[in-house]
Amino acid sequence: MSEPMDTTSPQAWTVADIQAQMNLLYPRELAESWDKNGLIVGDPHQEVKRILVAVDPVPATVAQAIAENYDLLITHHPLFLRGINFLSREFHKGRMVHDLIKNDVALLNAHTNADSAARGVAWALAKAVGITGVPFEAQAGSEDALGLGRIGKLSQPVSLEDFAKTVAAALPAGPHGIFVGVPEGKDLSMPVETVAVSGGSGDSFLDTVANLGADVYVTADLRHHPAQDHLMSTETALISGSHWATEWLWLPALAHDLEQAALENGVELEIDISATVTEPWTQHLPTVG
Ligand SMILES: [Zn+2]
Repeated sequence: MSEPMDTTSPQAWTVADIQAQMNLLYPRELAESWDKNGLIVGDPHQEVKRILVAVDPVPATVAQAIAENYDLLITHHPLFLRGINFLSREFHKGRMVHDLIKNDVALLNAHTNADSAARGVAWALAKAVGITGVPFEAQAGSEDALGLGRIGKLSQPVSLEDFAKTVAAALPAGPHGIFVGVPEGKDLSMPVETVAVSGGSGDSFLDTVANLGADVYVTADLRHHPAQDHLMSTETALISGSHWATEWLWLPALAHDLEQAALENGVELEIDISATVTEPWTQHLPTVG
């Protein structure tokens, strides 16, 4: 009598299978032309049982993935955006690559394709601050566009001060915090209803969000001169958070959507979200001198 085929035992995905699932969630054609997305380190044929997701491929997250026995580290940011000539242990990126290979941990990233995707970084930030946003491009009249930002209305107007508190409460804890900028002639009591967001460094959209009539724009990494010029010349308040924190909000959606895909395919997969804060800053002190 022949053994019946065991159809109940879960299958495992390979690195290449995960890559294919990532391409479904975050289509490569959504990526900006200068960007790099895909499998950075690893063997496409290797089986993956455990995945760690993080914003940054830095020594801290690589060390975590290795120490905690993950098969794959998925990050938002690429490890390399430009060509390199040296990959030895003399350099921090070389050390990361060596450590990943030696420990059979693959590294895969989804950057601006994930920023723009239907359930990507901009979507997650919009949801966290209380709007069901549409892409800037769609708001501007371009059909079925997906882009790096979202704009939408709060269920009711609130003061900028209260909205800023909502944003601070929605973002993960980190040393950077948020900065609030008020347009010339207004104060923190100004009402805000139309909200625009773009995770990470969003200063290239300052004109866009003002033209779309946003009362406030939530992004990160805003610099002195662009922010000052914007606040003196438009009606749109600014909230500048940490690059890491505004993008981290996407990681739970990534973990959920990949887990869901695995479940639907009868595949065993464990996904954890790295809580390692990879902001470049360690401490924030208001200056008082
Ligand atoms: Zn980023």
